[in-house]
Amino acid sequence: MLSAELRERNQVEQRELSRLTTIRIGGPAEVVTLEDRRDLPELVAAGARWLGKGANLLVGDDGVDEPVVRLGEAFSAIEIDSLCGGRAVVHAGGAAELAKLVRICAEAGLAGPEGLAGVPASIGGALKMNAGTAHCWILDFARRVEVLLPGEPEPRWLGRAAVPAAYRCNGLPAGTVFLGVELELATGDPEALRARATELKQLKAASQPLALRSAGCSFKNPSPELPAGKLIDELGLKGARVGEAVVSERHANFIVNEGAARALDVARLVTRIRRRAWRKRQVALQLEVQTWNCPIELHLHPRELEGDDD
Ligand SMILES: Cc1cc2nc3c(=O)[nH]c(=O)nc-3n(C[C@H](O)[C@H](O)[C@H](O)COP(=O)(O)OP(=O)(O)OC[C@H]3O[C@@H](n4cnc5c(N)ncnc54)[C@H](O)[C@@H]3O)c2cc1C
Repeated sequence: MLSAELRERNQVEQRELSRLTTIRIGGPAEVVTLEDRRDLPELVAAGARWLGKGANLLVGDDGVDEPVVRLGEAFSAIEIDSLCGGRAVVHAGGAAELAKLVRICAEAGLAGPEGLAGVPASIGGALKMNAGTAHCWILDFARRVEVLLPGEPEPRWLGRAAVPAAYRCNGLPAGTVFLGVELELATGDPEALRARATELKQLKAASQPLALRSAGCSFKNPSPELPAGKLIDELGLKGARVGEAVVSERHANFIVNEGAARALDVARLVTRIRRRAWRKRQVALQLEVQTWNCPIELHLHPRELEGDDD
């Protein structure tokens, strides 16, 4: 039960999480839009879950019991510090949109973030997932990140060397809350950076079902040589469906909600893909998409999954 003080200082409302996730799936939860840092400890103690743009998230059909927190306006600023020696520091709050950061940096002639063009994310969600493309990861450019680490009473800034980032992984303890980032960027030609961002977005739109409801890539790539999408395609699973959850014809690592898919449909389709990848190629696909209150099968080793994958 959240305190009256917290409710007074922040917006708290009952929402269907299907309205706040890009795959448009997810049951109800109490959603807090956080504006006041004083309330962080209470939310952490209440076991809060943290939500950005919901672009890599599958939420169960029954929703979640814990409060779901979105960082509010107070965490949305993007500011460019003084330029010095051909480099600049950019501050971005955890609620800021990654797309806005990409645009502002390109317009200011600051190079790097244009490589993330087209990735739907809040800064907090992008840091948690170490969002990236074939060209870069967001943590490549970080000088410091502002985090609330599990068990610590106050947020603090961690230098990049203390963040052991890897592919789609920030390396900090589970439960770390990301409140903001400072990026250190080199200067570049604004026109060339804008053109590069546009080109990358077009390439992405040509190869991924960006206009449809999805939660991005379902699985991590097993290795750089074996992208998950290629593997799923080779397994003959493009177009496979459970209810209205369908493996995209455009990119087999995306599961698309054609309308009224439930989390259970997506979970069954995921299980079918993982089982077949294990049976035919001995690859244990790992989920990239984050799950809240979804069936446990999604996290078992595929050899533990019973049943047929056809
Ligand atoms: C069409 C499409 C294309 C995509 N393309 C790419 C791509 O090219 N590259 C890529 O990397 N990803 C891609 N994704 C996935 C998604 O964009 C990224 O994973 C992104 O980082 C998710 O950010 P978010 O704000 O939506 O996070 P959410 O989906 O809201 O949350 C994801 C995870 O981060 C946690 N989280 C959110 N905010 C915070 C916070 N402040 N502190 C701590 N934890 C937090 C959540 O609890 C959850 O575990 C794509 C998704 C879609 C729908």
